Amino acid sequence: MLKLPGLIDPHVHVREPGQTHKEDWDTATQSALAGGVTMILAMPNTKPPIFDAATLDLALDAAKNKARCDYGQFLGAGPDNADIAASLSGKTAGLKMYLDSTFGELRLDDMTLWRPHFQNFPKDMPLVVHSESRSMAAAILFAALHDRPVHIAHISLKEEVLLIKAAKEKGIKVTCEVCPHHLFLTADSPLPEGEGLGVRVNGRREVRPRLAAQTDVDALWENLDVIDCFATDHAPHTLTEKDSENPPPGFPGLETLLPLLLTAVDLRRLTLDDLIQKSVINPRKIFHLPEQPETWIEVDENAEYEIKASEQFTRCGWTPFEGWKVKGKVRKVVLRGKTAFEDGRILVEQGYGRNVRNLES
Ligand SMILES: [Zn+2]
Repeated sequence: MLKLPGLIDPHVHVREPGQTHKEDWDTATQSALAGGVTMILAMPNTKPPIFDAATLDLALDAAKNKARCDYGQFLGAGPDNADIAASLSGKTAGLKMYLDSTFGELRLDDMTLWRPHFQNFPKDMPLVVHSESRSMAAAILFAALHDRPVHIAHISLKEEVLLIKAAKEKGIKVTCEVCPHHLFLTADSPLPEGEGLGVRVNGRREVRPRLAAQTDVDALWENLDVIDCFATDHAPHTLTEKDSENPPPGFPGLETLLPLLLTAVDLRRLTLDDLIQKSVINPRKIFHLPEQPETWIEVDENAEYEIKASEQFTRCGWTPFEGWKVKGKVRKVVLRGKTAFEDGRILVEQGYGRNVRNLES
């Protein structure tokens, strides 16, 4: 049995408030624990989006009542909430800026809208951007101009990882994360198809950023030292929605993160040290997260099995990795002294999770 620290996932879509038929604070945190993740940071593109004191309280109240693992909540950057965001920063995981379109309503089209956020949001609090390709270059320039750290969410392209590498070499304070689906899937990977709905597109492929080419995936693996964190971008939607005429982008990922990474460790594509560095140590540093005392996970590193959505805790009921053979299974999760998960069962109640901004560091 392999003993590891509890993992931190800095990019999770909990879907509460507003879309609890996809997921909520209860099922998302069960999914996290089953995946060996003891701390999640939740994204703000809910319904309503989290962008002021009232909506932040809405999310934090739900989390306080329902979360089973520890959590933080991002605030979304809007066209006119830079002052409010800065004043609320201490209660948040950080600020999330959507510079390219994705699921939800939070998008800042115009660069004049970025400036007040880069200027006002406290430099010692995390600022995360969804920025792809050329808007990523612009975001990195903003970080340099305002001399503040910026964290780039879910990089997926060769040009992106090479740009971040160059920016780091120049001393710009940029960090980044990569998602398992961008490391293990390409635009050509066979994925489960929608069944008999006569749909024009395979909605189960839809994700932002899109799945990329093999050359991009290869570049991510070749430049793993440039990548600071693994993050799932756990973005659950139901199968009915994914197979509809207008499929929303997003994959669930909390329960497949660790088995996929451990399988890569087994294949010597990654070291166990890398895994811990990018799933625990770096996210703790980048997002200023407290240590979780008496917290660890136990993994059977020799257990070989197939990934099955039917065995997962996420409410969305599917996974793009259905049927994948993996090696490494989470047996037990201990969170702050209490066994939270063991052999397929969740053992802590709703409300056991703590807001990371209230935990002692
Ligand atoms: Zn996301």
